Amino acid sequence: MMRKPHIIAIPYPAQGHVIPTMELCLCLVKHGCKVTIVNTEFNHKRIMESMSEADNAINLVSVPDGLAAEEDRNDLKKLTDAFFEVVPGKLEALIHNINESDENRVSCLIADENLGWALDLAKKLGLQPVAFWTASAASLPMVFNIPKLVDDGIVGNNGEILKKQSIKLLPLMPAMNSTDLLWNCFSDPGLQRLVFELALKNNESVKAAEWVICNSSQVMEYEVFASYPKLIPIGPLLASNRLGETSGHFWREDTDCLKWLNQQPLNSVIYVAFGSHTIFNMAEFQELALGLELTNRPFLWVVRQGFIEEGGNAYPEGFIDRTCNRGRLVEWAPQQKVLAHPSLGCFLSHCGWNSTIEGVSNGLPFLCWPYFADQLFNKSYICDVWKISLAFHRNECGVIGRHEIRNKVEQLFGDENFKARAVDLQAEVVPSVKSGGSSYRNFSSFVNWIKAKN
Ligand code: UDP
Repeated sequence: MMRKPHIIAIPYPAQGHVIPTMELCLCLVKHGCKVTIVNTEFNHKRIMESMSEADNAINLVSVPDGLAAEEDRNDLKKLTDAFFEVVPGKLEALIHNINESDENRVSCLIADENLGWALDLAKKLGLQPVAFWTASAASLPMVFNIPKLVDDGIVGNNGEILKKQSIKLLPLMPAMNSTDLLWNCFSDPGLQRLVFELALKNNESVKAAEWVICNSSQVMEYEVFASYPKLIPIGPLLASNRLGETSGHFWREDTDCLKWLNQQPLNSVIYVAFGSHTIFNMAEFQELALGLELTNRPFLWVVRQGFIEEGGNAYPEGFIDRTCNRGRLVEWAPQQKVLAHPSLGCFLSHCGWNSTIEGVSNGLPFLCWPYFADQLFNKSYICDVWKISLAFHRNECGVIGRHEIRNKVEQLFGDENFKARAVDLQAEVVPSVKSGGSSYRNFSSFVNWIKAKN
């Protein structure tokens, strides 16, 4: 019998990276590969606890992340420093152990593009190095262009923004503010510098990758793929593409909200979710609550644990009672299923890339409320390139007010062009992952290459 290729995959230890890595790996399993995913012990435990039933398709293993049990994993500098210090040695030892005990020796290592060191390790161990970029392809030119941005005097040698101006990284891409460059979104200068230096290192490591695959589709960002032929779109990878359940969640999904959705009118519900990192201060949170109340429409709102900076219960007085007949609050939703539900009317989103591709795949119009990093640029695509969304504007105090929220919701629901364009985009994007589509063909070539290199 032919030996199955054995792939080891390592995501960056954050929810928005783990979910697409799991989706990718489940597709590889479906195509006859054996896959071992390496998570941090901390995330592994959460994933196992959140799974409703054991999924044996993938071998899930874990390594320590270098932090003590009680340390704060939301402190990205601390997490990244510790992770980069400890995990390379652990991963190398793990691969040696697998190869000593498993008849399926590891032949390929798929690393999150942010973990350039893992691509270097793959080379050192004689494994095929593959980089997986889980954000939009359009955010990669921000890091690939760092040397040019430095030469042009826009960015300093340590990543500091020297000129605040509008920049265009590719002729057909939307313009962006230099202050929105990925590493500049962090308020901590130490973290800014760390992310900038890692991006520079990764730019070198990724050159060794045999494939750089992206969770995107040709039709969503054709101008980027045309300029960087080494970037290969294989997405959008969603559980529905493999006829499966969702996977890799850090929190248990509240599936009762699907029953609630069943009781709502078609195309009526505003789904409000800000991904796994976003934190609101009390004032923003209360305005959002009051804005949703003012819409008089049904809403499903994900309020994650730790979502409010100041902690505790920050709902405006009487809000829960006044909205209980048409509002539903959950701590973590089965988002991909929610977005596919016929009662959904629009997606009020922080524009994380996974949320973006999930909304687009379901033909939903958006209301954009980006929080940081690539979300700002994703918003430009959603609003200005695909024209399936309206963005909120902040008032003179920097807050998105309740009336702004109500007005934008009304504008979006009142103009059927947003929904029509979203449905048109869906009709272009979804076939790309179906048999014969561009992402499907790319994925098949990728799998054939893995098998040939085994
Ligand atoms: N998600 C979910 N339930 C929620 C909120 C988010 O399943 O209540 C999932 C969502 O479907 C997406 C991921 O979490 O796959 C969030 O990734 P994204 O890139 O949108 O945002 P990030 O968390 O990285 O900011």
